[in-house]
Amino acid sequence: MNQGMVRDICLDAIKHYGIDGQVTKCLEEISELAEALSPFNGGNLTLISTDNIVDEIADVAIMILQMQMIFGEDRVSKRMEFKIERLRNRMMKERRESE
Ligand SMILES: [Mg+2]
Repeated sequence: MNQGMVRDICLDAIKHYGIDGQVTKCLEEISELAEALSPFNGGNLTLISTDNIVDEIADVAIMILQMQMIFGEDRVSKRMEFKIERLRNRMMKERRESE
């Protein structure tokens, strides 16, 4: 399935279920992902099945696409650019300091 089809279906879901419905759904999916990841928190990934984690990441990714459409894809994209740049700078600084 191409990106255009994914976008169309996400927009249709927002129309079909409404903004409130999809925000609520997003909160539910984030909570399910948090629960799926919790055994890994500070633990050993090899001890747990990752199938459920992958499944919940996919659910959240789909909801994040819709949240970006609702709250502004350009705004999110600009903030992501800023935060990625900040992350890079922070890591570079930490690496310099650890030398
Ligand atoms: Mg889920």
